[in-house]
Amino acid sequence: MIKEVFPNIFQIKVPLPHSPLEHLNSYLIKSEEKSLLVDTGLNFPQAFQSLCRGLSEAGVKPEELTEILLTHFHVDHVGLIPRFKEISKDIKLSIHHVEVELSRIMSKKFEDYNESMENFLKANGAPSSIATNLQRFHPAFFTPQAYQELAVAAFPLEDGQEIAVGDYNFQVLWTPGHSPGHICLYESSSKILISGDHLLPTITPHIAQFVENMDPLTDYLSSLEKTEKLDVEVVLPGHEEIFANHRERIRQLKEHHKRRLMEIIIRLRTGSSTAYMLASKVHWNVNYKSWDEFPPFQKYLALGETVAHLNLLEQKGLAKRTEADQIVFYGIN
Ligand SMILES: [Zn+2]
Ligand SMILES: [Zn+2]
Repeated sequence: MIKEVFPNIFQIKVPLPHSPLEHLNSYLIKSEEKSLLVDTGLNFPQAFQSLCRGLSEAGVKPEELTEILLTHFHVDHVGLIPRFKEISKDIKLSIHHVEVELSRIMSKKFEDYNESMENFLKANGAPSSIATNLQRFHPAFFTPQAYQELAVAAFPLEDGQEIAVGDYNFQVLWTPGHSPGHICLYESSSKILISGDHLLPTITPHIAQFVENMDPLTDYLSSLEKTEKLDVEVVLPGHEEIFANHRERIRQLKEHHKRRLMEIIIRLRTGSSTAYMLASKVHWNVNYKSWDEFPPFQKYLALGETVAHLNLLEQKGLAKRTEADQIVFYGIN
């Protein structure tokens, strides 16, 4: 299904099989000289067919697409890169430089990367069914070719860089939080924001921590401050529907994180706990009746979210982190 949302900007809804998100929004921006696709979809034949059909309907032969820009390196956005590379060797790929580097780590030192995630999950109280089984349920492990392509071929984007296509002049805005090198694209004269997963109209973007030495929730809240300042009329998000009034949405998202931080503080007051134990008690907006019903991937995501919130509380001096026998406990300060 495609829609010309602005002259020469097309939204193509790409189905996301086996995912509660239903579809990914790919955006095609075209001019006489070039055709730029923002984000792709999961690596499934039906997703590729649907995206190719959309491109053709918008007047671009898939093999003639000149450039793919990725808002971030999550697999629902980058998964179809290897298939485009197969039909068009010279296609230009671009993604924020932080995620070029992460793709290099993921594809070159994969064992180390996997091991450090495993250790991090175990230290935060995850049972081995989750910590040592990532390859079985984590979708990023299903498409290693996408990361190999990004590692060797992607052009590294910088904050503030300009990307011109026809009459449009998009500015790259580095908005870390949902992922370390997440970017949005802002077109100031048309007041369009292509937001990736930084802003979604009803789903709360997933903010999670799976490695040491990062503070993704603090990053995300500063990125919200950055996008709040922009003069935006229309947001073109990575999932769900196009929306307006981005400042109201940002207010709701800030409120959501404030509530979750409060909920965690209240739980910490009842005694110290691992992040995994806390995650099993936090209220999640999902359709499962109990924590036991959560599939492993959902438990993994919930744990990452909980760690991100605990880390912010610790940075602010509101939670205390202690370690015993290589297990991390959080308590009240
Ligand atoms: Zn994402
Ligand atoms: Zn996404």
